[in-house]
Amino acid sequence: MKKKRIFLATPTMHMEEQQYIGEAFDTNWIAPLGPNVNAFENKVAEYVGMPSSAALSSGTAALHLATILAGVKENDIVFVQSLTFAASVNPIRYEKAIPVFIDSERDTWNMDPAALRKAFEKYPHPAAVMVVHLYGTAANIDEIYSICQEHHVPLIEDAAESLGTTYKGKMTGTFGDYGIYSFNGNKIITTSGGGVLVAKKEKDVERARFLSQQARDPARHYQHSVIGYNYRMSNIVAGIGCGQMLHINEHIEKKHKIYNQYKEAFADIAEIEMNPLNRNSIDNNWLSCITVSRNSNVTPMQIMDALADENIETRPIWKPMQLQPIFKEFDFIQVEDGLSVSEDIFNRGLCLPSDIKNTDEDTQRVIQIVREQFGA
Ligand SMILES: *Cc1c(COP(=O)(O)O)cnc(C)c1O
Repeated sequence: MKKKRIFLATPTMHMEEQQYIGEAFDTNWIAPLGPNVNAFENKVAEYVGMPSSAALSSGTAALHLATILAGVKENDIVFVQSLTFAASVNPIRYEKAIPVFIDSERDTWNMDPAALRKAFEKYPHPAAVMVVHLYGTAANIDEIYSICQEHHVPLIEDAAESLGTTYKGKMTGTFGDYGIYSFNGNKIITTSGGGVLVAKKEKDVERARFLSQQARDPARHYQHSVIGYNYRMSNIVAGIGCGQMLHINEHIEKKHKIYNQYKEAFADIAEIEMNPLNRNSIDNNWLSCITVSRNSNVTPMQIMDALADENIETRPIWKPMQLQPIFKEFDFIQVEDGLSVSEDIFNRGLCLPSDIKNTDEDTQRVIQIVREQFGA
């Protein structure tokens, strides 16, 4: 008999989501907009400590609008973290701008401020900088923001994975000029698919809403002065989000527990390290990851295979952008020559099951199989 499937990260629904959707049905608020969208925008804004937010169809759509609002145009340079998901970079290419990939630091796995400074020496006038809080671990956002300020360049924070992560007591996504969150199915909470944009300037949030609804000028007939998008979140989807927002802190608590269970269980195995947490932050631990030390005979793919044989889902670390066939023509900035930090993490890392519905027994099964690979 096949063993019970253990997942990486799947949606976790509660009761309230259906109530919000039920109300939408009862009042026939099915089409875009409606009370759930407003309520969801308010809930997210309040949670992250911003005056407003714009609810959109995906995190990628939110990044695209952030890129446009930051003023990125054809042939502009944009500095973007190299260790990330392609969805961070694609919106830069939608605008025909030129990404320059910035290597990560070991302390957070996110954009290395030293590499960012180096990039500014080579390209003094980028149109924007995009940092990511990978796996829910905060980047050293203070330092990155102040470098951007020194150079008068807008900062976009891809906080798709880090909703609820605080840095020095303030929510990630709210440090930059623009911040985005994803509500895709595997994220800390989900709307089934969706995104939210926040911005330092209130008028940017309004502009995002305008652009996301086909950029209709305030005229009686259909009139357009700029290119618009169909990126608004629907009222049904927002209803799921309203229900999920009631449970976000509970989700984060469970993610902390999973991370700590792995950390304790692997503490005696010198060849395993957990993904780093930022010492200035409380991270949401969206995914728990390990790296295997360089001198180990065990490879991450061997661990992946052993777990897959037991019906357990894992995932490699995001493959860095400078290694992607589609982006190979673009420049990559690292502090020291040789193997980059992002490639090294990719080579040696693995994301472990972090689904909050996994039981302690499930996690123990994962732990035992990982330990066996190291003869422990
Ligand atoms: C999930 C994710 C996105 C994209 O969000 P979607 O809502 O799936 O479009 C962007 N960046 C990162 C780092 C992500 O993990």
